[in-house]
Amino acid sequence: MEKKQINPQENAWWFIIAKDQIVLQPQGNFIPYGCLDDLPFPDGVADNAVKIADYQASPCYLVFLQEQSDVGLGEYSPLRFLLGRVDDGLFDVAGRAFQVSLFYETHQYCGKCGNEMHVINWETAMKCYHCQHRCYPRISPCIIVGIRKEKEILLAMHHRHMKNNNPVYTVLAGFVEAGETLESCVEREVYEESRIKVKNIEYVTSQPWPFPHSLMMGFLAEYDSGKIKIDKNELAEADWYHVDNLPVLPNHGTLARKLINKMVEQCRE
Ligand SMILES: [Zn+2]
Repeated sequence: MEKKQINPQENAWWFIIAKDQIVLQPQGNFIPYGCLDDLPFPDGVADNAVKIADYQASPCYLVFLQEQSDVGLGEYSPLRFLLGRVDDGLFDVAGRAFQVSLFYETHQYCGKCGNEMHVINWETAMKCYHCQHRCYPRISPCIIVGIRKEKEILLAMHHRHMKNNNPVYTVLAGFVEAGETLESCVEREVYEESRIKVKNIEYVTSQPWPFPHSLMMGFLAEYDSGKIKIDKNELAEADWYHVDNLPVLPNHGTLARKLINKMVEQCRE
């Protein structure tokens, strides 16, 4: 992370975050864009801006505020508003802005000795100058896995989706535990949630999921043995669905949907 002087004439993207919301403009790419000299920032607002990325050859600055004060550039909105409305690259920078701002907010004091922490400027970290303890933004690894049995796919509905009239059916997912490999996490999560065993676990791709700090790692696996018996605390229902007769699926652009599409392709090969 760079904290060097901002060039006031250089166009940049501005990720202004306060109280879990981001300043968005009503149209275009939503994220405010322009040079410091031309933007109507009140005095002092941009003083603590930190560069978090580059996007389309322009720097991206995070401005983290304690209160949702008017910065003259738009309205505060939830991050989820941007999902599917901007391209993946810009969404990932917005997600990074959220994760870094959450990190600053939750690491103001040293977890080891209780003294104040300070943002350091050569990497994305905070440091306690009293005991030298250093912290990095929290990232929670999470596996998500599509499971196939010949021409059928295992799909589950979560309790939180049941409230909708048109509940979404999706693949299984869960957080990686300390000391666990990704592959054993896949086996454990699938078994805990559905009591089935899987084989031929294969990594596909990943997606940062900043709600609030997950890193989703997508896998495909094949059914090995067992009969579905769901963990009722986690799931409302789960079953095998033939690829020609699938229920309502997660939105395009989600990793879950990518995995499902890949299994559908494989079934039709
Ligand atoms: Zn300390």
